[in-house]
Amino acid sequence: MSSAASVLERCARLGGISEEPGRLVRRYATPAMREANDLVAGWMRDAGLHVHEDAAGNLVGRRDGPGKTLLLGSHLDTVIDAGRYDGPLGVVGAIAVLERFWDRALPFAVEVVGFADEEGVRYPTAFLGSSALAGRFAPGWLDLRDAEGTTMAEALRAFGGDPGAIASAARRPEDLLAYCELHIEQGPVLERRGAPVGIVTTITGQTHAEVCFRGEAGHAGTVPMNARRDALAAAAEWMLAAEAVARRRQGTVATVGRIGVEPGARNVIPGVARMTIDVRHTSNAVRREAIADLRAEAQRIAAGREVDMDWEAHGETAAVPTSPDLADRLADAVEAAGHPPERLPSGAGHDAVTMSSLTDVAMLFVRCERGISHNPAEAVAEADVAVALDVLERFVGDLA
Ligand SMILES: [Zn+2]
Repeated sequence: MSSAASVLERCARLGGISEEPGRLVRRYATPAMREANDLVAGWMRDAGLHVHEDAAGNLVGRRDGPGKTLLLGSHLDTVIDAGRYDGPLGVVGAIAVLERFWDRALPFAVEVVGFADEEGVRYPTAFLGSSALAGRFAPGWLDLRDAEGTTMAEALRAFGGDPGAIASAARRPEDLLAYCELHIEQGPVLERRGAPVGIVTTITGQTHAEVCFRGEAGHAGTVPMNARRDALAAAAEWMLAAEAVARRRQGTVATVGRIGVEPGARNVIPGVARMTIDVRHTSNAVRREAIADLRAEAQRIAAGREVDMDWEAHGETAAVPTSPDLADRLADAVEAAGHPPERLPSGAGHDAVTMSSLTDVAMLFVRCERGISHNPAEAVAEADVAVALDVLERFVGDLA
């Protein structure tokens, strides 16, 4: 079997390890994650790696070497009703690349990391695994509870981790050479360009907020149209304005993903409409300008309709550029493999965001069918995975 075929076969096996029958769900520190870590640990040992799990539950396979350590990897947890490649492809692919170096010396150590939580599905915080490596795991997170009321500390202890020793998972920047992550694109750009792989330039910054319009609930039959303070109508007008604000700025994406209406009855004028907004751009300045415009539009619409508007900021993450030097090395490797070195930003967040606080980061995207991800229909072509493995092998050889 080719190594690409073997990678796909392993992703399929991991795709069968789920908390629920019939769909793929593998959240942080669950028995399904235990099973996945154990399976991948076996593959790591077969590849000659020394395996250990850190206190946060991250799986690490190490190939010793002199000097600093090159980190490769991605995450082994999934969203609910996930596809089988988002995350595991980067872990299984890295093991396959190291198998090609089994009889070759390298002037550095290499570790493959399977992060225990990237998606943040079980607890209301994401990137738990890479945060532990980056020394940014907040002790207070251990008290967070999942939907069943289990604290993170309890879950981690049951998993075999050590909540009291999370700090020991932190790495020292001076020990690290770089972090390189292989991941499916999760968008349609490479497919449109006809390229099997692409080099990530920047991981976009994000702003999240909750926007609430408050008008007055009233009888749907008796209050005339010109006397209404309809919160949902204000929200609808603002959603279209948000779309226009994003379209005015090349590369901006703005999404209202959830909306709640109160009281929410057929015969009652909506008194409250509450929605989330998610805005992303590769430039922090452009993203902040878009946010300022979105707030101004919300105020203008609220004033015109005599409703109140509340803007509750839910945090932001800055855009993270990948290392230009590592990106150039990946581009050289892609060209050497006979393909155009396509470069593109990542609209999704990745473990590389957190890892960038620790060391230089690089990301290689693999084309995925119709850009679909976070969906069981997620698909990659074996030929594209073969290109990605060749590129990573050249990249590692070039760093040597
Ligand atoms: Zn992912």
